[in-house]
Amino acid sequence: MITCILFDLDDTLHDKRASLAKCGRRLFETHELNRYASENDFLQRFVDENCIIQPKEQVFAILAAAFGIEQAGAQQLKAEFDHTFHHHATPFPGVLETLEFLSSRNVPIGCVTNGRDFFQRNKITALGIAPFLDAIVTSGELGIKKPDPRIFHAALQQLGIVAAQAVFCGDSLKADMKPARELGMTTIWKSALKRAPEYVNYVLPEFSDFPNLWQTITA
Ligand SMILES: [Mg+2]
Repeated sequence: MITCILFDLDDTLHDKRASLAKCGRRLFETHELNRYASENDFLQRFVDENCIIQPKEQVFAILAAAFGIEQAGAQQLKAEFDHTFHHHATPFPGVLETLEFLSSRNVPIGCVTNGRDFFQRNKITALGIAPFLDAIVTSGELGIKKPDPRIFHAALQQLGIVAAQAVFCGDSLKADMKPARELGMTTIWKSALKRAPEYVNYVLPEFSDFPNLWQTITA
């Protein structure tokens, strides 16, 4: 029987591209980056590079090289990004309503996310979702990243449940869906695509569809 749910953070609850665009615009203005590039060119590259899984040092080194920004300037940009990105954190529409819906039904909720611990936790707080979460596991804290099953086990253990009782909702097939299914969880793929691999149990295009889906899963 399904009794609890685990969510991925980035691109599942957190609208990463929207947050990055806001943060990039702010950095562009405060650092007068119009000296180096047009706002559109900078923003496009800034969002794209930050959406690639790579160390942030590398992201800012690439941006510096692409736009001719001096090394000291690039380091300043990274430091400011690290400490202010969460100010721009934007949830997908319906996320808070979904967590309220689950919480009002006493469903334990966990978050399993890859990323630096302070960075992920700052975002979780800024998104306003922290009060709903009964467990938060970050790869930065644990030193183990999804798709490693041990990070999923850590969350299950914190919630005091077994995999068969849990749903995992995430956007990544490789890091979220496949390992969660292999562990025996029910999987919800946060995706606009209709065709899903066999290890995906349900597809969720929008959070407005969540209450109906939850009823189906728990019926
Ligand atoms: Mg994700």
